[in-house]
Order: sequence, then C-alpha cells, then structure tokens
Amino acid sequence: MIDIHCHILPGMDDGSADMKESLNMARKAVEAGITHLFATPHHLNEKYVNVKSNIIDRAVRLNESLQEANIPLTIHLGQEVRIHRDIFTSLEKEEILTLDDNGTYILLELPSGKVPTYTLEVIYELLLKGITPIIVHPERNKELIANHKLLFELVQEGALTQITSGSIIGNFGKSIQSFSKKIIKHNLAHFIATDAHNIGSRGFTLQQAYETITKTYGIQRTYYFKENAEQLLNDQSPTIEKPLPFKKKILGIF
Ligand code: FE
Repeated sequence: MIDIHCHILPGMDDGSADMKESLNMARKAVEAGITHLFATPHHLNEKYVNVKSNIIDRAVRLNESLQEANIPLTIHLGQEVRIHRDIFTSLEKEEILTLDDNGTYILLELPSGKVPTYTLEVIYELLLKGITPIIVHPERNKELIANHKLLFELVQEGALTQITSGSIIGNFGKSIQSFSKKIIKHNLAHFIATDAHNIGSRGFTLQQAYETITKTYGIQRTYYFKENAEQLLNDQSPTIEKPLPFKKKILGIF
C-alpha cells in the first residue's frame, strides 16, 4: 500500500525524533503492508518551518538508512504546508515541496479550529500555478464539522481531500468518525492516509481503515482510494468523482 501523508523523517517536527525512531516507524509501516511512504513534515504551521532543501536532505538520508537496514520501504518527498498568506512567497523562494517534487500536488493543512477567509483564494491561485492542493484531514476541522457545505465548496473549487485512517476507525472520537464517513459518502474524499507520527497512538492504521471502508461502502470504494494513491506515485491524475452536495438538514439527518 501507499501512504501519502506521514511524519517519519527524523527530528523535523512532532513526528519521529531521531533516525532510530524513523527506522522503527518504517518497520511498523512495512508490517502494516505499506511499501511506499510520502514523508510530509509540517511547514509554516505555528511551530515548524521545514523548507524543501532540508526535507530532501533528510529523506535521502532516511532512504540510505532503510537500505542499510534492509527495510523494504521507499520514502518519497512531500511536505504538509499550513495554509498561510505567505505561502506564495514561500513557493517563490523554492521552500515548498510538492509530492515527489513533481510540481503538481501539495498537502495543504488548514488550522484545526477554522477555515481562513482566504482559503478559496489560495486554492484558486495554486490551481492557476498548476498545483492541486490536497486538503489534509478536513474531518478534524471544527469549522468544516459545523459547516459541511463549506467543504463541498472547497472541493467544487478544485481542491482534493485526504481523510486520516485513524479518523475512519474512530481513533479521534465518534463525531469525527461520522463526519469522515459523510465526506466519503458525498464523494468529497480522494485519498486515505495515516498521518502517522509514531508507532503508538498515531501509527499506520491504513489497512484497518480500508477494511472499514470495504465493510461500509464495498470493495470498489477501497480500490478507488488505493488507485488514487498509486496514480500520485506514478505521476498521473487521480480519479475525481462528482461531489454530491449535502442536503438540507431534515429531522436531524443529513
Ligand atoms: Fe500531518
């Protein structure tokens, strides 16, 4: 399996602390059936600044260490970029790293509490530059939880989304789990990824999430997500299903 979002690079953010932990995470990822990982350290969130050149250096080193340790896992380049007014300055300075450095997709993180007023504008500007933003874990954003229609608008604008595997299996609570399922049901999710930070509570739960998706929506939906991750890896466009709008709330049912 392919995981497009995780914090496995050593000493960059709140994920792996050092190379030893990165190798332990890699072993767990392999045990969990993962063969390719996009390493996506935080960038421009309030705590961490991790520019492209530093991520590339660290990813090269991790790939070398994986080979030395005979761990059959390949690390791909990526970055989790917090939405920010300075994102375009950072892009001009070549600090932003698209997935596999291909210039076509980035992981875009919203602050957990809200959707900034300039979000649609940033999505639009990125698309103009040929970069498609993949909004990570929208199911954990408080404003989107309160206003599902806003997520529909972001996807209509051209953003893709990635649901975190732990959200689907209930690791972040019932309401986030139920919103995750609604997002999938309305064709507003395009990828599933672990967003793994460690080998404990934030681990590699991709297989469990796919099992839940298969049980709830059938195997075709699981294939859809797996194929989309493969398309990214192969530098091809993922399949985008037509988003379905949320109906008006009637008797408490969406
Ligand atoms: Fe993350």
